[in-house]
Amino acid sequence: RTASEAEGRALPAATTDGHAIEIGANINKPSDVAGAIDQGAEGVGLMRTEFLFLDGGHTPDEEEQFATYGAMAENLGGRPLIVRTLDIGGDKQAPHLKLPREENPFLGVRGTRLTLRRPDLMRPQLRALYRVAKAGANLKIMLPMITSLDEILAVRAVAEEIRAEVGAPAVPLGIMVEVPSTAVMADVYAEYVDFFSIGTNDLTQYTLAIDRQHPELAAEADSLHPAVLRLIRKTVEGAARHRRWVGVCGGIAGDPFGASLLAGLGVDELSMTVRDIPAVKVRLRSASMADLKALADKAVAARTAGEVRALEASFGQGDA
Ligand code: PEP
Ligand code: MG
Repeated sequence: RTASEAEGRALPAATTDGHAIEIGANINKPSDVAGAIDQGAEGVGLMRTEFLFLDGGHTPDEEEQFATYGAMAENLGGRPLIVRTLDIGGDKQAPHLKLPREENPFLGVRGTRLTLRRPDLMRPQLRALYRVAKAGANLKIMLPMITSLDEILAVRAVAEEIRAEVGAPAVPLGIMVEVPSTAVMADVYAEYVDFFSIGTNDLTQYTLAIDRQHPELAAEADSLHPAVLRLIRKTVEGAARHRRWVGVCGGIAGDPFGASLLAGLGVDELSMTVRDIPAVKVRLRSASMADLKALADKAVAARTAGEVRALEASFGQGDA
């Protein structure tokens, strides 16, 4: 029997042999939650908090952040919520923070590098998040642009201090895998983090040395380049050493063929733009995990992104 469209969107993204991939939405506003659930999101896999700092043109204080994260959790009604701490720098500049101009902002004081230097930014955000957790939210905290164990340990120390201060329960703390070094070191970092989420937009940029916004190089900045896929495999293998789960929240998670490959590589969760959710779910339901694993093996063995893309036709998956 063919499920109606709305029924279909609500079904889990389970392969024909019953492996379910968790599907999250990349949304930033509490008002976007209902629409995401309607399209089949099972939670929020990436809330980019820099929008709170960029759209308003000011630095939101702890209360303002508490209200926004709290409303997000409330609207999700117990579904999982992953909030990423501030990722300013690189392509996301906030003039009101008056940060020094950098020659290479993508290689500069960005994301967690910035918040570690700016307790006035890190502490109110963590306090707001732990207060939301204390109020019962199904929350996870995710750190952007991690490039070393020192950064992980430094944030963990501050987070634990604030958690105790607030009287909140433990909250899973994960990191984004956005640079090649972090993918390579995932087996080491896995001991110190609760989960990984791969940001393929930045991981592709830093692996291929292509500015993610470069108009002339857009076609070459392909997240299905075998080098990127090998780093994803490396992350999944490293995470497994400590039984950590791995998600992908970069753009390729919302591409039906990309999602199939990622599932075959052993990724547990995919988080994407809301409009991409229905087609990804349909595609993931159309194959077995054994088929997806075989597909992923072929992709990792490919020599070029073009060869990986060509596998889609031979894999014989029609779009829905
Ligand atoms: C990414 O880099 O893939 C990611 C999800 O983060 P952002 O796009 O916000 O840099
Ligand atoms: Mg990123």
